[in-house]
Amino acid sequence: MKKYIMALDQGTTSSRCILFMKNGKIASMVQREFPQIFPRDGWVEHDPMTIWSTQISVATEALLKIGASWSEVYTIGITNQRETVAIWNRKTGEPIYNAIVWQCRRTADFCKSLADMGLEEEIKKKTGLVLDPYFSASKVKWILDNVEGARDMANRGELCLGTIDSWLIYKLTGGKVHATDCSNASRTMLFNINTLTWDKDLLKLFDIPESMLPEVKPSSSLFGYTDKSILGAEISIGGVAGDQQAALFGQCCFNRGDAKNTYGTGCFLLMNTGDDAVLSERGLLTTVAWQIGDKLTYALEGSVFIAGAAIQWLRDGIGILASSSDSEKMALDIPNTDGVYFVPAFTGLGAPHWDPECRGLICGLSRGTDRRHIVRAALEAMAYQTHDVLTLMESESGTVIPALRVDGGASANGFLCSFQSDISCKPVIRPQNTETTSLGAAFLAGLGCGMYSSVEEITSLNKNPTVFEPKMGKNTRDQCLNGWQNAVKKTILR
Ligand code: ADP
Repeated sequence: MKKYIMALDQGTTSSRCILFMKNGKIASMVQREFPQIFPRDGWVEHDPMTIWSTQISVATEALLKIGASWSEVYTIGITNQRETVAIWNRKTGEPIYNAIVWQCRRTADFCKSLADMGLEEEIKKKTGLVLDPYFSASKVKWILDNVEGARDMANRGELCLGTIDSWLIYKLTGGKVHATDCSNASRTMLFNINTLTWDKDLLKLFDIPESMLPEVKPSSSLFGYTDKSILGAEISIGGVAGDQQAALFGQCCFNRGDAKNTYGTGCFLLMNTGDDAVLSERGLLTTVAWQIGDKLTYALEGSVFIAGAAIQWLRDGIGILASSSDSEKMALDIPNTDGVYFVPAFTGLGAPHWDPECRGLICGLSRGTDRRHIVRAALEAMAYQTHDVLTLMESESGTVIPALRVDGGASANGFLCSFQSDISCKPVIRPQNTETTSLGAAFLAGLGCGMYSSVEEITSLNKNPTVFEPKMGKNTRDQCLNGWQNAVKKTILR
């Protein structure tokens, strides 16, 4: 009997597999970290073979853990770290170089040279992205320019390129399928999000032969079947999406204006903008959320660089906090921060301020300040920064976000959720299952293979979330927001 959907969640630091029941409940989960490779300052790589071996071993172990067999797996959904890109030999499946990770800055100078040529606007119009080494295109060019023989092989059509979803699909299908989904394609900087095709001008600009590219498919569709010699069974791959888009899907943000925030090391906010590819003037990204059948859904994306990382810093850097989860009790121990604000601009500030040079600040200290005020100010800063991005999304899209759905490690903090609701003046909804990334991949796959009949059926599975309603009075809220904005100003002006 087929009863599980297998979600393969290939993240930046670990490979995970979760087996879901049809009702969205977790039956088994296994996770394995793998090595990060730092060849030079600012360079980050992964070994694609290690990605593959850890991913396939956690998949096998997830089954073993509950005594299940591959024949009980209905379908597989894949979600992955985005933008990270690998290049491999089409025939042998051998990578020609390590995968270059999204965080890697090695192509900063090249991207700057494109900006100096005035190409930023055109690239944004086509791809929805800001010109930055973050995205895959310049990484591919680097490999072709720097790995001996690579360009000749590419010109002869002997190489495949792919984001990590594509690499896993290729390996799972025994090299039969070279494909990706629209959401991942939209992060490469080679994909035109208006025409939904690889863009010939961009391919020329980045000097990448078209023959290297994967076929782009809807996120919820049949990508292929696993090779029997690898898993001992032919299982369909029915859904694929980049991690943040999968989380948006897993949170059931199916309507325009639905938005989610993932509170982790940083924050990732995505808002469904329906069939409208809203272009941002102030640094948000426009991206494909997913494609189901021929219906495409777009999203606006914004991120906060430092969120939970500030809590980590209080714990590990200056040692005023024993554990991340203690922060909640400390924050609730006092009625407010007594005028203390913490702007964790450790690596500059992103949207809507965009100042890469400014650095963090704690202000409003008095003789009465103790560590509780600083810890609370760090939690509040997560909410303020989120609020700033949410407000920008609402103004740039002309759409009100009715409620914010939350997930990620720090969403376990009830104080944070409740303060977010107060500051943003909207309900904050935390689902029972905060493994939304894997869940999204499972839902897409289940929908792709007909296990679910519609998104309505999926929405009905999302039962009994915790809802935090705003309780703060308008005056207090205005005061809080004023204080935050002043602190940000001080941070930027210094
Ligand atoms: P990532 O996927 O980015 O590594 P996670 O989603 O696992 O992050 O979340 C971990 C982050 O959340 C850490 O920075 C940690 O300090 C913070 N965090 C975890 N639990 C809590 C909590 N209860 N309250 C506040 N912050 C927390």
